[in-house]
Amino acid sequence: LVFNPKLSWEFRTPEEIESRTVRAVRNHIKHAREVSPFYKQKLDMVIAEDIEHLSDLAELPLTTKEELIERNHEFVAVEPEHIVETVITSGSTGKPLIYPLTANDIERLAFNEALSFYGLGVQPGDRAQILVSLDRLFIAGMAYYRGLTMLGANTARVGVVPLEMQRHYLQLLRPTVIVGVPSFLLKLGADLQSAQLDTRTMGVSKIVCIGENIRAQDMSLNGVGTQLEELYNAAVFSTYGATELAVAWCECTEQCGGHSHPELVHTEIVDEQGRPVKDGTPGELVATPLGVEGMPLVRYRTGDITFKVAGSCPCGRNSSRIGPILGRTSQLIKLKGTTIYPATVTSALDELKGVVDYVLLLEGVDSLSDRVSLHVVASPEMVPLIAEHLRSKARVSVPVLISNQRTVDALRGDSRKKVRVVDQRKR
Ligand SMILES: [Zn+2]
Repeated sequence: LVFNPKLSWEFRTPEEIESRTVRAVRNHIKHAREVSPFYKQKLDMVIAEDIEHLSDLAELPLTTKEELIERNHEFVAVEPEHIVETVITSGSTGKPLIYPLTANDIERLAFNEALSFYGLGVQPGDRAQILVSLDRLFIAGMAYYRGLTMLGANTARVGVVPLEMQRHYLQLLRPTVIVGVPSFLLKLGADLQSAQLDTRTMGVSKIVCIGENIRAQDMSLNGVGTQLEELYNAAVFSTYGATELAVAWCECTEQCGGHSHPELVHTEIVDEQGRPVKDGTPGELVATPLGVEGMPLVRYRTGDITFKVAGSCPCGRNSSRIGPILGRTSQLIKLKGTTIYPATVTSALDELKGVVDYVLLLEGVDSLSDRVSLHVVASPEMVPLIAEHLRSKARVSVPVLISNQRTVDALRGDSRKKVRVVDQRKR
């Protein structure tokens, strides 16, 4: 893979992208069936040539994370001597997923991140600091590192170190680009300010955010995104990825959704039955990463809820884009015959001034409906305002109960994180 981003498929017309993707997916399916014991069985009846349009893919079976974890070794598609790195990610059940990479897989991963960073305007001459784990068998930090160096940026592997050390390296190397987790970057900014440093004139121009949303469902910056921009006087970009997909959807300079890199992944958004949904409609992100050697996957259900951003991007790329992650499929709320995503409610609440804290409590009634209540730390006069805001922004009507900090903390239970959604439904 020679890194020449201008030759990337995303600059082709939508029709060209589709015909290239159809060919790539056909080859991918044939290859997966040949080399992966799992797909030899799963795709036994599939005739790759029958796929003429991308919409035909909806006929193919989906692969779940449970299958991948339970039958982990059956997905390995190469001989042990071709594996050069092993990374691990944990499933929701706590059972680890062991993900092997070949030398080509690592190059592919680097190419993917180089395309992403190029898309948001990083260039040779930029000084980039990576503030996420580069060890502990995580894939992300390594991928950012390889991608940034492939792109030619001057890359500093700071990693996860104490605030004092972060402050030291920021002052010493004066990065123009920071890659990190939004809540941590807020904490770091507060620390810098308490040390009498002017965070707005430090020279950081771009912040690449992973692991947490910086946008609401309407694509505007949420509270965290706005605070980060103000704190560092920098543009913020969201990137999303999953270890087992070895690919990322990253925002470009236009900051209106994470671009799919069509030569590396085919992106679908599907409903609960696995059927494609319209652009703008939330559903589960299903991905078929292309060109993977170690552990190829076909129509992999990520369990993450998002939507395709409609229309073409002003940046000139014609690849599809995804919005912020609205939640997990397991958190989907069933309410009066419709389904809603907790993140739709929480992102609406996060922008309301006067709401000190809150918990969205989900209780099970039966398999078709849930009981939902909102416990808010706010003054009682806020109730009509909150209810109206939720109706207009999140199109949902839930009981709003004024509470106090102790009760809200008690609802959270033992969780050390400041969780917004407490799910007490039995499954
Ligand atoms: Zn774009």
